[in-house]
Amino acid sequence: MNPRIRFVWLAGLALGLLAGCASADPTALATAPPTATIAPAASPTSQAPTQTAGQPSPTPAESTATLPQPSPTSDSAAACAAPASLTPALTEGPYFTPNSPEKASLVEPGMSGTRLLLSGYVFTSDCRPVANALLDFWQADAQGRYDNSGYTLRGHVFSDETGRYQIETIVPGEYPGRTEHIHVKVQAPGGPVLTSQLFIPGVAQNQSDNIFDPALVMSMETSGDGMIGRFNFVISGN
Ligand code: FE
Repeated sequence: MNPRIRFVWLAGLALGLLAGCASADPTALATAPPTATIAPAASPTSQAPTQTAGQPSPTPAESTATLPQPSPTSDSAAACAAPASLTPALTEGPYFTPNSPEKASLVEPGMSGTRLLLSGYVFTSDCRPVANALLDFWQADAQGRYDNSGYTLRGHVFSDETGRYQIETIVPGEYPGRTEHIHVKVQAPGGPVLTSQLFIPGVAQNQSDNIFDPALVMSMETSGDGMIGRFNFVISGN
């Protein structure tokens, strides 16, 4: 080969190898920005479970074994009678953080507070189960404090094909001016976002909380050293 042509060929090969290395940079995925968890209702693709790619893997909670699992059939579709009233919306409050991770348990090792296993169904007002509904929860810890810099006690799950969802968390504490509550956003695939809050039965502060709504009180029972909570959502379909 002509030495000049050979030099040009080798230089081209070297540049090609360098470009290949750059595109294989192992840090490229780690620096990708997180994608939206709750997107405007006009974006049906926001429901895709892959939207949380890049979020940390859920960490199994140490306390999971302390709570017996509620029977999926004990609170089945018989709980819905058509026409069902839509779950009331309630204020979002100042502490919502988008892009929460998908995880079945918000409980972390060493976290204080009474364990709460919350489950239920998502229905439309004609009692059709809503499969793959997004349920995004966030709440204060047992001392009434929110994590506003990270995702402690923040996370989302999806309902299954029967409309059933389940998430493990703790009973939140009160904070000044508010009774105990768990914030939630619920969205059918491609549907509007319902923003609301869930309340604990029998809490004295419920009666003095100026946005408390008795229609948003969970049914709760003690189970072992924790609590089992149930709440069925009725939302607008897509
Ligand atoms: Fe709050």
